[in-house]
Amino acid sequence: MKPDTFEKLLKFIDSMNADYKEELYYALKESIEPIDPYHRKIIEELRETKFSKGLVCPRCDGKEVVRFGKYNNRQRYKCKSCNKTFSDFTRTPLYKTKHPGKWIRFIECMIEGKSLRKSQKIVGVSYVTLFYWRHKILNALKQDIIEAFNGIVEMDETYLLFSEKGKKKIADRKPRKRGGKSKYRGISKEQMCILVARDRNRNTIAKTSCMGRIVKSKVESVVGSYLSSANVLCTDKWRAYKKYCEEKDIQHYRIKPDESGHVIKGLYHIQNVNNYHARFKKWLDRFNGVASKYLNNYLTWFKFLDSVGYENTINCIKEMLITGCLHKVYDTYHSIRTAKFSIP
Ligand SMILES: [Zn+2]
Repeated sequence: MKPDTFEKLLKFIDSMNADYKEELYYALKESIEPIDPYHRKIIEELRETKFSKGLVCPRCDGKEVVRFGKYNNRQRYKCKSCNKTFSDFTRTPLYKTKHPGKWIRFIECMIEGKSLRKSQKIVGVSYVTLFYWRHKILNALKQDIIEAFNGIVEMDETYLLFSEKGKKKIADRKPRKRGGKSKYRGISKEQMCILVARDRNRNTIAKTSCMGRIVKSKVESVVGSYLSSANVLCTDKWRAYKKYCEEKDIQHYRIKPDESGHVIKGLYHIQNVNNYHARFKKWLDRFNGVASKYLNNYLTWFKFLDSVGYENTINCIKEMLITGCLHKVYDTYHSIRTAKFSIP
């Protein structure tokens, strides 16, 4: 290429709009740093992690498994218990994906929180399929939960207005904008309560718990199995938490909600969990409201990003993909699309 042609090219790029620049950026990235080598390495690592205790049938958990040739260049296995064949991807979010390599670009888009339409341009897969991919991997990641909290646990709830975004006909209610900031005053049954508990090692549970104010039984159903009397709980003064801790025999510090920065003994506060709420809501803003029935998936998505520091590196991509593939998913496009809103 002649130097002046290159100059012209740079000038032309400079004049492009932001969307085209972004597309060009990803096209160049693919050309300079093709995903293919990463893709093969990740698949190998996935197999080793998934079958770290030996080959297991994803359908019946049978352990008598033999290699059964290759199909479409992918290793197949046969289970002697159920007599069925499977691949490394069976019952993972990547099952029946024609181009597993494209998943890597898609995970990059997820780490950057890109919309489905933008992702479509970057990945080269229709946004309808990507909608399905997004929720499949999130349904898998949702199953990746902590065993138990350690030591001090901060817990607080936050609210989002119930939304049926994406539903064609909204029966009893006019569509409305998201928002809602009030705490205890004006919390109605139209607001979804999101309960977040986080220990000082950053083990986190963040889930929708109920409509309206948090109640004791919902605290138990969301975080009960991860807490014991060995923990110390920090919450605000809401009575449901007080009763909950009394019943569970958990040491409890009650933080004044109106006094930001209230810290007891220099250690007990709920600032980490409140900062987590704020980061989540700020991140969620980019989606212009999400349907409440998918809110737990968005909470899972955010939790992952927050834990890896929003870094779009090959290690984070690998971690998201491999962790997602360690859990079984049974979703179909139909089951995701027609999912109903439910709370525990
Ligand atoms: Zn089997």
